Amino acid sequence: DLAYLNGKIMPIGKATVPIEDRGYQFGDGIYEFVASYAGRLFMLEEHLDRLERSMGELTFDAIAREDIKKAILELFEQSGYPRAGIYIQISRGVAPRNHAFSRGMSPQFVMTIRAVKELPKSLRENGARAITVKDLRWGRCDIKSVQLVPNCLAKQKALDAGCDDAIFVSDQNVVREGTSSNLFIVSDGRLITHPLTHNILPGITRLAILGICHSAGIEVQESFFGIEELYGADEVFLTGTITEVLPIVRIDDKPIGDAAVGPITRRLYALLREKALADTPA
Ligand code: PMP
Repeated sequence: DLAYLNGKIMPIGKATVPIEDRGYQFGDGIYEFVASYAGRLFMLEEHLDRLERSMGELTFDAIAREDIKKAILELFEQSGYPRAGIYIQISRGVAPRNHAFSRGMSPQFVMTIRAVKELPKSLRENGARAITVKDLRWGRCDIKSVQLVPNCLAKQKALDAGCDDAIFVSDQNVVREGTSSNLFIVSDGRLITHPLTHNILPGITRLAILGICHSAGIEVQESFFGIEELYGADEVFLTGTITEVLPIVRIDDKPIGDAAVGPITRRLYALLREKALADTPA
């Protein structure tokens, strides 16, 4: 497994960052996670769009998009993994610890690459279980920042409860998203998902699903819904780069529909895999 550290590729164990990296001390960093299928990175340009946006929103000094893309492709090629997961992290830079930052810092650009560890087949076939948790995250969840402590705590709480993931619900009873995924419900044959606001991450898989639904003539509504609609949905699924389309069949120990993987979820998973593989050369 390889790492990229400011222009150099090396074994992961050899890559270290200075202790005064602002990403380390303040969570002042952003990230992306891109995966490949059959030797081709899936929706790379969309991931680069989001990466640039995250950096812009946090007013990082720019790294040229073309340089980022070149580095990603070089690491990907060197790894030789046809089904790779690339973690990309950019921090504002390294400086003596001070909440205030100066302009003209050199952002620190690091990556790791590994073969994708697929989710267990049983989870995809039988569906996953989730708990709901209070959304304790900050007000700019649309920025893909490395401040993930609430996400880590929620995920661990789910595992400790014998479940697979947690779903964030706001104080005002708005169902937001998973700990590392977006959430859709199926109700009366149409999909409903949270609109793009500051409270959720604009997922690339979410975007892919919206496109797939448009082509397939499946109705999608981007609107807010509460926990009653979540419990009462016919189907619930999560979307994400590794998650892909993951059915959720129990939430807070209540069955969703008949507690089995639903037909729309199944169809969308197949269509997403098809798109991911069609986007790759033969
Ligand atoms: N929401 C959150 C909070 C996430 O961390 C992720 C995964 N990065 C997603 C949604 C899904 O985004 P994507 O489809 O781009 O992987």
